[in-house]
Amino acid sequence: MNELTLIPATGIALPATPFAGRHLIGGQWVGSAESFERFSPAHGVLVSRSAQGGAFETEAAIAAARAAFDSGEWSRAPAKHRAALLLRVADLIEANVERIALIETLESGKPITQARGEAAGAADLWRYAASLARTLQGDSHNALGPDILGVVIKEPIGVVSIITPWNFPFWILSQKLPFALAAGCTCVVKPSEMTPSTTVIMGELLLQAGLPAGVVNIVLGFGQPVGALMASHDDVDMVTFTGSTAVGKAISVAAAATLKKVALELGGKNPQLVFPDADLASAADAVVFGTYFNAGECCNSGSRAIVHEDIAVEFAARVVALSCKVAFGDPLDPATQVGAIISPAHQGKIDSHVRAAEAAGARVDLGGGFLTVPGLAGQFYQPTVLSGVTPDMAVARDEVFGPVLSILTFRTMDEAIALANDADYGLSAGVWSENIHTCLAVARRVQAGTIWTNTWMDGYPELTFGGFKQSGQGRELGRYGLEEFVEVKTLTMRVGRTRANWVRG
Ligand code: NAD
Repeated sequence: MNELTLIPATGIALPATPFAGRHLIGGQWVGSAESFERFSPAHGVLVSRSAQGGAFETEAAIAAARAAFDSGEWSRAPAKHRAALLLRVADLIEANVERIALIETLESGKPITQARGEAAGAADLWRYAASLARTLQGDSHNALGPDILGVVIKEPIGVVSIITPWNFPFWILSQKLPFALAAGCTCVVKPSEMTPSTTVIMGELLLQAGLPAGVVNIVLGFGQPVGALMASHDDVDMVTFTGSTAVGKAISVAAAATLKKVALELGGKNPQLVFPDADLASAADAVVFGTYFNAGECCNSGSRAIVHEDIAVEFAARVVALSCKVAFGDPLDPATQVGAIISPAHQGKIDSHVRAAEAAGARVDLGGGFLTVPGLAGQFYQPTVLSGVTPDMAVARDEVFGPVLSILTFRTMDEAIALANDADYGLSAGVWSENIHTCLAVARRVQAGTIWTNTWMDGYPELTFGGFKQSGQGRELGRYGLEEFVEVKTLTMRVGRTRANWVRG
């Protein structure tokens, strides 16, 4: 019998009053007649109550962003001023890590140590974006002939709608917002209705840092009507979205009428290819990390292990043994590595994926059911390992978004690469081998925006991130992350009166 590692309720008292969230529009905090509530997915306790925006608030926020952009106060400010503000925000984030982490954990169910890490890491994203603001530049063309000088300049794209999901609310906001601001854009932000509060805290920090009114506006509420209006509105120049592939497609359709730019960071079904010569202890540890990090509610979840058949049985046994040591339980305990599932509905969806896999012939080597954590009323799912998974099974193709690993097998490198590419998604992939030629061949042939070799999910602000195929379009982070938010303009300048008249005579 496999015994799991459980962290029971800490007994830490939750805040007596729920976090009260309001919209930030034109530099003012405003409420709405209606509100929505969020209960901690781990504890089942009310933790936030937010103003529920509708079309009225969304229109007002877009109008404020449009006016702020057109005024030029931010969009035409010297980049060093914008960079200085982003650096102040980074410092404020660092000073508020505990506050951000606590409400993030209470709304999302993620472990407190992880939430602290994400908040502190977000500060680094703001610092990196500040450095990009000051080095944004175009091209000059001085070799087009003696009488022509060409200059290509970059301008902020305009008003940007930012729509974010619930799995990394503060982090994903920080993958987008400082880059848009560095470019000189103004923004309307809508966080997920499950995790609105850390975006409100971000709004407070922006005002504290001295951001001019209207440059960043926040509307709390649901996809309909808030997100949909942000995606379709005439006065919005670009929408950047992270979330599910289905909603990403709906946003593309909504944006098409105005042909606004769309950037999408969507789902993944990310393979880790394990070759027989790999350091199996490290590979197993990385597969376990890739499966359970953020309870598997992660676009980069490494939920498909594609393992050479000679080592598949041994590898599955290693993964099961390690899985039992991963600490599941109360996210408020610093010892916890995996917390709660975001909602009962999502918990049910994860379970139906597992039941369908079982019915299709997969073997449940570990877990496969709901998890009861002593003293907690929220929803948790067991660490789950499925072996004997075949590529035609839904569990091998669909994003489960839970702590569930599928193990598939291969015989040759060609077969491994074909299996990796046999997916609608193309977000990330990993290869485990001590042979550099194997790693490079896989890295070059697998269709994914990020390939990790002998590691998993290492990320840096400097390294660009984004998806192939139905994992998205556009890129975040790195230089490309800034370039998403600029328009490119060509200036063609004649030097002297040398152009012959077009009209003869
Ligand atoms: P979701 O698509 O349900 O919601 C994301 C956001 O879109 C929320 O703010 C929601 O309110 C809003 N929304 C819903 N309907 C809308 C509509 N019609 N128009 C405009 N906005 C709308 O996603 P989720 O459940 O919050 O997040 C999970 C998904 O996000 C997973 O599929 C995951 O893979 C993906 N994700 C991707 C990345 C990445 O970088 N590729 C990162 C994190 C999460």
